[in-house]
Amino acid sequence: MDRAKYVIVGGGLAGFNAVAPIRERDPDGRLVLLTDEQERPYDRVPLSKRYLQGALSRDGVFLRPAEFFEENQVELHTRKRATKLDAKAKVLSLEDGTELRYDKLLLATGGWPRRLPLPGADLQGIHYLRTLEDSDALKGAMEHAKRLVVVGGGFIGCEVAAAGVLKGLDSTVVEVGPYLLNLAFDEPTGRWVMEYLAAKGMKVRCGERATKFHGEGGRITGVETASGPVIPADLVVVGVGLIPNTALAKAAGLAVDNGIVVNERLEASAPDVYAAGDVARFYSPVFERHLRVEHYDVAVRHGKVAGANMAGAGVAFTELPYFFSDMFELRIHVHGTLSDHDRILLRGERKVTEQGGFVQFYMKGGQVMAYLGVNRKLKEERAAQRLIASRRTFEDTTPLEDPSTDLAALSG
Ligand SMILES: Cc1cc2nc3c(=O)[nH]c(=O)nc-3n(C[C@H](O)[C@H](O)[C@H](O)COP(=O)(O)OP(=O)(O)OC[C@H]3O[C@@H](n4cnc5c(N)ncnc54)[C@H](O)[C@@H]3O)c2cc1C
Repeated sequence: MDRAKYVIVGGGLAGFNAVAPIRERDPDGRLVLLTDEQERPYDRVPLSKRYLQGALSRDGVFLRPAEFFEENQVELHTRKRATKLDAKAKVLSLEDGTELRYDKLLLATGGWPRRLPLPGADLQGIHYLRTLEDSDALKGAMEHAKRLVVVGGGFIGCEVAAAGVLKGLDSTVVEVGPYLLNLAFDEPTGRWVMEYLAAKGMKVRCGERATKFHGEGGRITGVETASGPVIPADLVVVGVGLIPNTALAKAAGLAVDNGIVVNERLEASAPDVYAAGDVARFYSPVFERHLRVEHYDVAVRHGKVAGANMAGAGVAFTELPYFFSDMFELRIHVHGTLSDHDRILLRGERKVTEQGGFVQFYMKGGQVMAYLGVNRKLKEERAAQRLIASRRTFEDTTPLEDPSTDLAALSG
């Protein structure tokens, strides 16, 4: 049976970023990187933004040129799906019937878009967005479309609708929650973002549940909602969340609980198996609990830690989660976790000018759990990171709310 010292399943950001730290510590150990996609590793972030808008070339989305893999002795296999893991025997089975024995295995299998199983779901013109192929198909469809309806008002949905507006499409977002981006923002900020996007030309219909896709001749013609008339559409994008790709791990008997459960060194519950990126539910020593984060920065840093540990480093992932989103001139940056708070503070006025935007602090028990900055400066973000990591408890939160106080001085 074929054998490799290091096997990485998944050629996304997490899987790819494990390569360099392995090679730094072990220049020659056999390293196999498997992806079931047809492309070599690329960045998904521009797929709903600059690439979709036509502002970035196709070459520009790839993480490295094709030669990189050979030059670094990485056996990259595209269109290769791992179908079974025997964690006791340390053997991975692939779709093509081959088996691969590993010494160290990284599961960086990411996730897939949640499907909306509504009547009419098979009509042509309904798109999901996760892969470069998806983005190519959507971009092509946008060239001919006039009316875009996006179902789901999360970050990806809003970014796609923004790309639609920039391309001159009549673009509507349908969101079941009371306001856009409601999993991340509090209501006043979500409503503020909504007004901002509406002023840019985006139509927003919140509090409406899509119930049916209408079509004619097999093609989409509109989206019906529970409360209103059919919204005409010749192009629909569904962005209603991600399901972590845990099938391999689950079938192998690894601990899985909304993601593959790993410790702070990203080790899964079987020896020599690691998990990283969107699929990993990791222990955060900063917040002293498990988190699963579906964002770029965590995937990159997880990959680096997992790779280093596969090659024997024994380091912990101690970073704060971080993510960003761009829509028109809005630049949203979040450090920490938004999912656990008992209070949200506003620092500055909720507006964006040439001088900058505003900040929110997500608090729990007087501690800062997250910093959310809209159009702020990097220097301030660094100070906020230190503040969160300090775990300082604020009896009086006035200094956090007062824009004239220096954040750098607050972390103690
Ligand atoms: C359109 C879009 C825009 C985004 N924008 C932002 C943003 O602005 N900011 C931000 O912070 N984050 C953003 N993200 C999220 C970010 O891109 C992800 O968090 C990151 O790509 C996750 O990387 P990953 O390696 O964990 O998983 P993935 O990128 O999902 O990679 C997993 C790979 O594993 C492959 N795979 C799965 N199972 C198998 C198997 N059994 N065998 C072989 N291969 C397998 C998959 O096909 C996939 O290629 C965006 C995501 C998308 C889709």
